[in-house]
Amino acid sequence: MSTFPDEEAIAQAAASLRAGKLVAFPTETVYGLGADATNADAVLSIYETKGRPRFNPLIAHVADLAMAETLAVFSPLARALAERFWPGPLSIVVPLRPGHGLADVATAGLDTVALRMPDHKIALALLRAVGRPLSAPSANPSGKLSPTTAEQVRRGLGGRVPVLDGGACKAGVESTIVAVDGESIIQLRAGALAREEIEAAFGRKVIRAAKGAKISAPGMLLSHYAPNAAMRLDTVPQPGEAFLAFGPAGDFDGEVRNLSPAGELHEAARNLFSMLHELDATGAKVIAVAPVPHEGLGEAINDRLQRAAAPRG
Ligand code: AMP
Ligand code: MG
Repeated sequence: MSTFPDEEAIAQAAASLRAGKLVAFPTETVYGLGADATNADAVLSIYETKGRPRFNPLIAHVADLAMAETLAVFSPLARALAERFWPGPLSIVVPLRPGHGLADVATAGLDTVALRMPDHKIALALLRAVGRPLSAPSANPSGKLSPTTAEQVRRGLGGRVPVLDGGACKAGVESTIVAVDGESIIQLRAGALAREEIEAAFGRKVIRAAKGAKISAPGMLLSHYAPNAAMRLDTVPQPGEAFLAFGPAGDFDGEVRNLSPAGELHEAARNLFSMLHELDATGAKVIAVAPVPHEGLGEAINDRLQRAAAPRG
């Protein structure tokens, strides 16, 4: 039998999270691998622990709508969705508010964020005790099934992360994700909240976003952040190009950012999105990007660089 975490266990877990450590916790959908969403290093630990090979935007879990509104701007329809279905298995994609404080690795450099208030006593107690949003993808190694018991989390992650045990999850599948476009509700991912339930509550059809569909409204971009500049993988930049370096780099007479002069992957991952944004903002037509070793976080960094460099249609 598992003992339900008491107040002290919650307080301890909250202190760990505030200190940048990971804690796995139950929600009504699946167990989440939680990190302080405002702490880039903590969020990067999620990637390292899951062995996740690509950076994708993570759902930020909040204690209530008030916390959500400090992070993002809710249109009347987005707010109505939250008021109707929170706490619950509905993640709502909303535009970030200036000064939101979320780490850019938590949003994968997007200007929107998927927010959700989980319907679970332990998750909510934890969120309130932390007082900050928590990034929490499923608490399993990348490519494996989402865990619905604490035991599965321990087995999957090999005891590397403390787990708050709340027994078995009610839903067992991930949250439904929607975005709002004017008066339309667009479903980005099917999940524990049925589309029909949203349709019944709001008296309108929920549009299913086609995979990879190009939608222009804010918050609807399924594609990942891509710079305006063309990108080219090379150790040597050409004159007129901007350069994203990694490790010791020679002199270059142009706009340069170095992901990590010491050649450190964690530092590189932390700098990735902000430096891409900065170099893009210089107006350079081409950004030359140095290759990064393909190990640990390097895999996710390279994936992002390759996709940013891929030709766009
Ligand atoms: P999870 O790994 O459970 O945190 O789920 C993350 C899912 O939410 C991914 O499928 C993302 O594509 C989606 N998602 C998160 N943030 C956004 C966003 N800002 N825009 C579109 N989809 C998002
Ligand atoms: Mg998962």
